[in-house]
Order: sequence, then structure tokens, then C-alpha cells
Amino acid sequence: MPSPGRRWRTMAREAPPTAGLPLRWADLLPCGDADLGGALARFLGVPAVQVECSGTAALVVALTALRTLAPDRDEVVVPAYTCPLVALAVAHCGLKLRLCDLGPESLDLDLAELDPLCGHRTLAVLPTHLAGRVVDTASVRNLARAAGAWVIEDAAQALGARVAGASVGTGSDIAFFSLAVGKGLTLFEGGALVVADTVLRAACVRASRRIVPRHALWELRRSAELLAYAALYRPATLPLAYGAPLRRALARGDRVGAAGDDFSPRIPLHRVGRWRQAVGVRALERLPDWLAAAQARAAPRVARLRGMAGLRVLDDSAAASGAQGTWPTLLVLLPHAAARETALAALWGAGLGVSVPFVQVLPDYGRYAHLVSAEGGAAELPHARSFAARVLSISNSPWLDDAGFDQVCATLERAAQA
Ligand SMILES: *Cc1c(COP(=O)(O)O)cnc(C)c1O
Repeated sequence: MPSPGRRWRTMAREAPPTAGLPLRWADLLPCGDADLGGALARFLGVPAVQVECSGTAALVVALTALRTLAPDRDEVVVPAYTCPLVALAVAHCGLKLRLCDLGPESLDLDLAELDPLCGHRTLAVLPTHLAGRVVDTASVRNLARAAGAWVIEDAAQALGARVAGASVGTGSDIAFFSLAVGKGLTLFEGGALVVADTVLRAACVRASRRIVPRHALWELRRSAELLAYAALYRPATLPLAYGAPLRRALARGDRVGAAGDDFSPRIPLHRVGRWRQAVGVRALERLPDWLAAAQARAAPRVARLRGMAGLRVLDDSAAASGAQGTWPTLLVLLPHAAARETALAALWGAGLGVSVPFVQVLPDYGRYAHLVSAEGGAAELPHARSFAARVLSISNSPWLDDAGFDQVCATLERAAQA
């Protein structure tokens, strides 16, 4: 018979869906260096980083700045399978969303689709480094620049990912990173904007001054949420803080809620206060070691998944030479949708950190379909739809131990072969 302690641990086991960096109590001290932009700039190896209150807010600021430079361009091209917040940011700016399919079994934009989507109305194209996987940006830049459009790399899930030694995003016009819960380094909510050109950088600073108010109440709320996160993001409390709401959502058949895709259309815009920035500066000191450990943990697990018949593990794009992505999760493609459903039925909500990046392609969400304009969503999007129906993410948190990972592998193996 298992001892009560062992039983408790088994019952209480809950891996978070991603390898988010846990906070320490010392991170929460009231004073210290509050220049998070400076600390992030040193970490990324760039001249400057503009801190905003979310990745979405960073994108809103960037699009607002670009619009002032090209008022007659009003279309933004994004991957059809991405975070719905991207679609909400585009709508917030009064711009039109154009969806681009993915390449087959890939996170790269489908270049044959992208080419005709880029034209004199295109403001920006957003190649997206999902789940830390580095995608091809050079080909996207060529097509976008030929049409006179800017490239904004969506690196929300890829803080610390590098290409030939330089941070992702530094080869394009603009990049943004998310500092939300679950994206690695977190302020509960936060974002970082990196802009290559000094004129464009100044335009982004001006846009932020114009549209982002101070708003002490939002900052107070985020500070309380960050404290709650610091208290609850640990193995003993995750079943309550993350697992219970997840299982309730799954029990009522609410996949959008279970995946955390249920966003408010109102995007908060406010300044990030000194205390939260100081917390970020202190936690950032541990990020390089944390990312290295995540990579070391991922390597043997990726190799094992690759050895299993029928599974495909997503890696950095072959077109991005010298890419070294980060590993918040491992993304796996099952051979067909039914196999993925079998695996999800057994694993989603089982406390093993198995989830999906997003539930479906943007036009297939009832609540976001209206954000895709008629001409912007007419395409079939076969690759993105297939990807959405077959993908599953496995947490790369250290709290998913080897026994838990064995259990995930056994279930995936059965599902892939059925
Ligand atoms: C989370 C996310 C965003 C938005 O970032 P927030 O900080 O949550 O506002 C944008 N794009 C992608 C791909 C994301 O995963």
C-alpha cells in the first residue's frame, strides 16, 4: 500500500502546460533596479527594448506606429493558426486581418500563399515563432519588402531563441515578446518590443506615449496577480490554481476555455510599474540557466518521441540556418485527427502538462470569426487546419518527471498506432 505521503504526491501531481520560470520570494522585494527594458536589451543583445503591458499591447503600439508612417496600408498578414490576441490587436487598430496558410506539417508561412497576399495595402507580415520553434523569416522578408510592407516577428513564445547567435527578431523590422504567464519570464502580463531602425524605434516610443496611459488601477491589479502567481505556481498548488479550472472547462466541453483561448476583446493598455519591472529584472538573471536546462531536458525527450512510429516532433525550420529555439513545450503532430483526439481524451486534464497551443484556426472560433474579413478568410487553409487538428503540446516543465513523461509516451504510442 502506498504511504499517505506518496499517495498525496500522486494525487496532487500537476505539470503546468509550459516551462514557465518560477519566481522566488526574493524576486518580490520592494526595491531594486527597475529598468527592465535595459536588462532585456542586454539579455537579447540589442540597443533598446520598449517594455509594454502585454505582448498584445506591444503589437498594438507597433502597428499604430507603422500606420502613422504608411496611412494607406491597412492589412496585416498573420498565420491562420496563431494566438487569437493577435487578431484582436489587429482589430483594435482598425486594420484588416489577412490569414496565410502554414506550410505542410510546418510553422513556416506557406510562401506560395503569402506571395499573392502581399500588396500595396499590406502594412505588416507576422511570421510567428510558436512554442519557441524558430521559423523562416528571410523568405518572408523578401516577399514583404518587395511589396513595401514591414515584417513584425511574433516572438511571444520565443524569448531567448536565437539564430546564428543573435536573438530572433533582430533580422526583421520589429519583434515582440510576451511576458505573460506561461511564456517563460513573466510579470503576470507584460510585453517587450524590439525595433531595429532608430527612426522606427522613435515612432514606436511616440505611439506608446500617445496611446498608453498610466492607469494605476490596472497596475495594482497586475501586481496582485503577480503575487498570487508567485504563491501558487508550485507543484503543490497547481492542481488547485491550474488543474481544477482546466478540468471544469473540459467537463463542460469548453475547449476554448480549457486552452486559455477565451480572451476579452478589450485590450488593456497601461504602463508597467517600477515594482513589476524590478521583479522581472531579478528573475531575468536566472533565465539563461533556466533555458539551458530546458533544452537539456528536451533533447532526450524529443529523440524518444522521434523514435515513435507515426509521430512528428516540430523542430526549428530547416530554412532558418543556425537556429537555436527555446523549449517551453514539445509540439507533436499525430498521424491524423482521430489519433490526436484519442490522445487528448486520455491526456488533457490528466495533470501531465498535455494541452494544445490553440484550439483551431482563427476563422473556426465562433467568437473570433468576425475578425477575419470576407476576403481575408476565404482560403481553405488546408495545412493550418490539418496542423490544428493533429497537434498536441507536451509541457517541458521540470515538474513533468520521467514517470509522467513515460505515461505520455505510452498513450501517444497507442493513439498513433490505433
Ligand atoms: C501569447 C501570445 C501573444 C500575445 O501575448 P500576450 O503577452 O499574452 O498579450 C501573441 N502571439 C502569440 C503567438 C502568443 O502566444
